Amino acid sequence: MKEFDYIIIGGGCAGLSLAYELETYKKLENKTLAIIEPRLEYKRDKTWSFWKIIPHNFDDCVKKNWENFSINIPTKTKHLECNSYPYQSIDSGLFYRKINNKLKKNKNINFYKDIKEISLNNSFIFNSVPSVKTDEISLWQHFCGVEIETKNNFFDDEIINLMDFDCEQRNSVHFFYTLPYAKNKALVETTWLSRMNDSSQKDYDVQIKKYLEKHLNLKNYKIIYREEGAIPLFYPSSNHNSNKLNIGTAGGMTRLSTGYTFLNIQEHSKYIRKNIENITNTRIFEINKKYQFLDKIFLRVLEKNPEKMPNIFFNMFNGSAKTVIKFLSNKSNFLEDLSIIVKMPKWIFVKALFK
Ligand SMILES: Cc1cc2nc3c(=O)[nH]c(=O)nc-3n(C[C@H](O)[C@H](O)[C@H](O)COP(=O)(O)OP(=O)(O)OC[C@H]3O[C@@H](n4cnc5c(N)ncnc54)[C@H](O)[C@@H]3O)c2cc1C
Repeated sequence: MKEFDYIIIGGGCAGLSLAYELETYKKLENKTLAIIEPRLEYKRDKTWSFWKIIPHNFDDCVKKNWENFSINIPTKTKHLECNSYPYQSIDSGLFYRKINNKLKKNKNINFYKDIKEISLNNSFIFNSVPSVKTDEISLWQHFCGVEIETKNNFFDDEIINLMDFDCEQRNSVHFFYTLPYAKNKALVETTWLSRMNDSSQKDYDVQIKKYLEKHLNLKNYKIIYREEGAIPLFYPSSNHNSNKLNIGTAGGMTRLSTGYTFLNIQEHSKYIRKNIENITNTRIFEINKKYQFLDKIFLRVLEKNPEKMPNIFFNMFNGSAKTVIKFLSNKSNFLEDLSIIVKMPKWIFVKALFK
């Protein structure tokens, strides 16, 4: 069976981002790479959005940039600016096409559907397939979004709605998220931060229909795209060893308090590319420990006090939006962290700290 210098298990966001980074920096001219990906065809299946706080390779796959966002609870709405770090949405269909067009030009890169088709001997393996079980106790961010098209102009496409908590909470944390791509097109997503054992939260299509028709008073629309997903708000078990490294969600690249993963994957890919010649002896890249610690406390508070979370998220954005964005994107300094921490209700966070 054929042997390779590198094997990437999973040709999704992390696997392809890494392959693209290695190929772009000519690290695969004299090395061979196998990508194991079972999907039969690549098509748009996700929308990756984030505040662009660092440069990345995929500006040409951006569907839209916004410099304003809002957040609301039933009684109040806040409008904020993010012109220093615009909010971007990447179309996964464009991302897959761009990367695959580049990779297919290099004969050293081969795709396989199953790992059994190749030899694992003498390879360094990058694994992006997480080993996670849906148990009764773990928290997930689970959601469903539809892209809709309206007959007439309906949306203000200059501003996204990051979190609208003016909806049924059902003893969990629930919000809607709206990305207006144009005046007559938007992605509207229902998002839950909860355990996965409550099937009553999974009637996503009903929730979205009700939100559009009753809340936004929008009756004439066409659904042109739908995505559904679940992001673990815990670190998947990792079995790194001297010739295997986990990447992507499997590699702990999700920020647990937010679910944001895309830019962390891009930073991780750059880090691997810079260290590829000595990858077996390179320190494992991870999200800064201070965020791991703070997110753990935050999620404890969220689990114990779901009813308080709309206000907690809302109040987090009192003051400088730039600081909050830096904090949520793992780029804040000590003083900025402190300015976020003091906005949190003290007693429940202290209790969560000593749980
Ligand atoms: C619908 C959705 C929307 C998201 N939106 C955002 C967002 O807006 N912003 C953000 O920052 N993050 C977002 N995320 C989180 C995160 O960025 C994505 O999940 C991202 O795709 C993670 O990349 P990954 O490579 O770890 O996993 P994936 O992209 O899922 O790639 C894993 C790949 O492994 C393949 N695979 C599965 N089983 C096997 C196997 N046995 N052997 C080999 N290959 C296998 C899969 O087919 C897949 O291609 C979203 C997640 C989802 C699910």
